[in-house]
Amino acid sequence: MPGRAFLQDFWFRLSIPVVFGTLFALLLWGFFSATYALLFMLLALLVVMVRHAWQLFKLLRWLHDPRIENIPEAGGIWDEVFSRLYKMVKRHNQTKLQLAAELQHIEQATAALPEGVAILNDANRIEWCNPLAQQHFDLDPKRDFMQDITYLVRQPEFIEYLQKSNFSEPLIMRPARHDDMVLSIKFIPYGENKRLLISRDITQLERIESMRRDFVANVSHELRTPLTVVNGYVENLQDMPDLSQDSARRALQLMAEQTRRMENLVADLLTLSHLENDLSPLLEETVDMDVLLNEILKDGLLLSGGVHSLRLESPGNAKLLGNREELRSAFGNLLSNAIRYTPKGGTIILRWAERAGQPVFAVQDSGIGISPQHIPRLTERFYRVDRSRSRETGGTGLGLAIVKYIAIRHHAKLEVLSEEGKGSTFALVFPGKRAST
Ligand code: ADP
Repeated sequence: MPGRAFLQDFWFRLSIPVVFGTLFALLLWGFFSATYALLFMLLALLVVMVRHAWQLFKLLRWLHDPRIENIPEAGGIWDEVFSRLYKMVKRHNQTKLQLAAELQHIEQATAALPEGVAILNDANRIEWCNPLAQQHFDLDPKRDFMQDITYLVRQPEFIEYLQKSNFSEPLIMRPARHDDMVLSIKFIPYGENKRLLISRDITQLERIESMRRDFVANVSHELRTPLTVVNGYVENLQDMPDLSQDSARRALQLMAEQTRRMENLVADLLTLSHLENDLSPLLEETVDMDVLLNEILKDGLLLSGGVHSLRLESPGNAKLLGNREELRSAFGNLLSNAIRYTPKGGTIILRWAERAGQPVFAVQDSGIGISPQHIPRLTERFYRVDRSRSRETGGTGLGLAIVKYIAIRHHAKLEVLSEEGKGSTFALVFPGKRAST
């Protein structure tokens, strides 16, 4: 409410022209006549009125397009009216700019959220959604604004979940147009019957979870088979205490084979878990390749038992920057595979060479080979082309998975060239900077 002083000032300024006009009219009356004075007074009031009417017209005209640049100029009391309006519009514009900046800020923050967010009103119509929600549900923010979400996402499980109103557990579903994606969906009620729809892409998590399930199932299966065999022999030995020495020895020998198989499996699992663990960094040293390759060749000759022709081809005097134990394990695994998958009389060559400035370790065999469709999957854990052959030869199905991890840790690439019935070459290609002389 304006104060008393303001009111006094208002009336004072409004009455100035009238007071001066009246004084002048009184003078006219004194010097001439009352008619002149009256005529003058009428004229003066008319001028005052026309001036006010003109300013009022300017105000109305401005109100049709109230921009700060075209605010009218005026004198007297109207000057104050327009200058106050000017300040008001300026303040309003500033507030508008501030609000727009804040809105943009919030929009940027919600766009950066790692989750899809949409606001639904009490009739499930979309009031707003962020870019990730648009991606998850194939929404168009303009076309689908205020559309019922159940017309756009029609999967029955989604509609049922929305109607259930119990959102303690998220809904896991695949969106209709991206069936390779898995979403975790939640509704959060807020305000007056409004709901926030939150969607999270859990495709990767689901994949890891399914890999973990497969892995546990595979390990259990791999351990169960030898355990069942050992159990069978133990029961036999218990049931037949007067078993002949020969039969008992044979049973114990088969049991030892199975326990060795389990031991190998557990050892490979431990190696894999150590390699996969981000917390075990690669401890590097300069490895003398001549010594290492000869050690591997010696192990190979022992494993082959003289049934293959094994040879090493190396220019000599080579060094490699890496972890000796891991390299030994990777090279050993490749050589043991070559021996196990090459029939008697076959040839196996261990080769150390340089290709386009990159050191390459290769094992070439004249064995059974692998048909092309299996090659991309060989490094998967427990993937075997021929299960029985792998088991017969003491394989765990983890050897190439171990080689792959060691290659990754050394920034090397595993290359497989193979032809069914003719033989295979497994090569580890190291980055040039690992070579040292
Ligand atoms: P495994 O313990 O079964 O040998 P690996 O991971 O070492 O497991 O190898 C995976 C599969 O790749 C093997 O089961 C085998 O079928 C195939 N494989 C590996 N190396 C060779 C090779 N040199 N020749 C033929 N097949 C091979």
